[in-house]
Amino acid sequence: MRTKIVAGNWKLNKDKEGSKSLIKELKKAIQENPLQDTRVIVAPTFVNLSASVKAAKKSKIEVVAQNMHQAINGAYTGEVSADMLKAIGVATVILGHSERRTYFNETDAALAEKMNTVLEKEMEAIFCFGEVLEDRKSGNHFAVVESQLKNALFHLEGKDWSSIILAYEPVWAIGTGETASADQAQEMHAFIRSIIEKQYSTAVAEAVSILYGGSVKPSNAEEIFSKPDVDGGLIGGAALSVADFVGIINAI
Ligand code: 13P
Repeated sequence: MRTKIVAGNWKLNKDKEGSKSLIKELKKAIQENPLQDTRVIVAPTFVNLSASVKAAKKSKIEVVAQNMHQAINGAYTGEVSADMLKAIGVATVILGHSERRTYFNETDAALAEKMNTVLEKEMEAIFCFGEVLEDRKSGNHFAVVESQLKNALFHLEGKDWSSIILAYEPVWAIGTGETASADQAQEMHAFIRSIIEKQYSTAVAEAVSILYGGSVKPSNAEEIFSKPDVDGGLIGGAALSVADFVGIINAI
C-alpha cells in the first residue's frame, strides 16, 4: 500500500500570522476528521517555516520547504541549505517546481545535485516535473517527462527511494483552472511508474507515491484521486482555503 499524501504549496502567499492561523484552522478541521493513513503537508515560504512548525506541533500536519540550495554552505547569497532547514524541524523539501524552473532558471542538472544533497542529508524530496502546453499539443509530453526524470533522478541507484515523492504537474494546468482529466493523469502516472520500474525495480516503482498537481479542487479531487496510480495531490490555490484544502483531503 502506497502512502497517500495531500500537500499544499503556498507559494508566495501568507505572512506569519496568516500561516499560523491557516495551520491552526487546519489542525482543528483535521482533528474533527482524522484521516489516519493520509499525510497532510503544507509548504509555507522560508521565513514562516519556524512559526509554522511551531503552530503544527501536536498535529499530523507536516511543514515542508518550497526549495533549498544544493550546497552544504558557502557564498550563495539569498539561499537556504539542507542543514538550516533540518535545524528548524523541516525534513522535507519541494524541488523542481515549474515556477522555479521557469522564473529562476532551475535546471535538471541543478536538480540532480539538489536530490543528492537531500539524500545525503537524509531529508525527503517532493520532486516536481511536467510538460508545457506545446509539448502536450505536439504529443511530446511523455518524452519530456521521461527526460526530466532521467536527468534529475536516474543517477540515484542504490539510494533510499523511500525519501522520494514524485509530483507530476503539467504546467498548462497550474493555476489555470484547466485540470488534466483523471484519465490523462492516470495515463501519465502509469507511464512514470513504468519508467521508474525500468530504471530501478518493480519494488521501487510500486512503492513510490506519485502526486498530481494542477488546478485540483474539491470538485475534481475525488475523480483524480480514484485513479490507481494517483497517490494524492500537490495543491496550489485551493490549499490557501481551509475549506477547500480539507475538502481535497477528504476526497482521498
Ligand atoms: P494550482 O493548484 O494553483 O493549480 O497550483 C498547483 C501547483 O503548482 C502546486 O505546486
